Amino acid sequence: MDLIAQISQAAIINQHKQQTLIREYQETSNAGLVYRLGIMGGTFDPIHYGHLVTAESARWEFKLNTVIFIPSGRPPHKAEKCISDAELRYQMTLLATANNPSFIVSRLEIDRPGSSYTVDTVKQMFKDMGHLTDLFFITGADAVLEISTWRDVAELFGLCTLVAATRPGFDLIETKQGFDLPGNLINKIRFIEVPMLAISSTDIRNRVWAGKPVRYLLPESVKDYIKQCLLYQNLECAL
Ligand code: NAP
Repeated sequence: MDLIAQISQAAIINQHKQQTLIREYQETSNAGLVYRLGIMGGTFDPIHYGHLVTAESARWEFKLNTVIFIPSGRPPHKAEKCISDAELRYQMTLLATANNPSFIVSRLEIDRPGSSYTVDTVKQMFKDMGHLTDLFFITGADAVLEISTWRDVAELFGLCTLVAATRPGFDLIETKQGFDLPGNLINKIRFIEVPMLAISSTDIRNRVWAGKPVRYLLPESVKDYIKQCLLYQNLECAL
């Protein structure tokens, strides 16, 4: 199947999964139960198996009904950096998640103008879903380390549980000491260890630029997409 057909098929599958999510939410809330939803936030440039294993681990650990992947639109902390176009990152995320019925991709941040602040995303999810939702914002622990600089952090902590995925070798005790946050907020962050996060997007971009193999680091469909769209050929963007 050619690339355009693959993306169209993945988009149709994603639409069906969104409809199923709405139906499941209604059934759950009609039964007076809370719907447990994971929001997987990241730049996903590109998405790789470390991200997919993180989402699956969080889904299992926190008994989540569904995980929604939300590729960052315009990350506020990366204004100067060279990042692949949001549409390309969205399409790679669609391809990577197509075969998992519990994973959905959202265009929320891509379609929202202005900088992508997580607090706005979480508030919008409550509006879209309904208030019988328990939200878990999942991302990398390295990103969470900077959380004191994020917009409206105290409000964010009040709206959702923050789940921080750690890479191998991550020193949790030292990290907690390094946080510029009140202790009660630090203790609300839930850390999960994900050995597969030895894989990183930076390393993959580097490898593509250098012509090294990336097979088994990310889904074949994403690997083929990178090749066909000639991504990460520019040294400045690859590093
Ligand atoms: P980043 O700085 O590109 O990544 C920092 C580290 O975390 C990298 O090692 C990255 O590995 C890892 N990482 C990122 N997302 C991950 C995920 N979902 N699962 C596992 N590891 C992950 O961070 P980012 O991707 O731009 O931002 C992460 C999330 O935080 C996004 O949703 C972003 O919108 C949010 N954020 C919000 C604010 C704000 O509201 N002001 C500020 C900063 C970030 P890889 O490179 O391999 O992904």
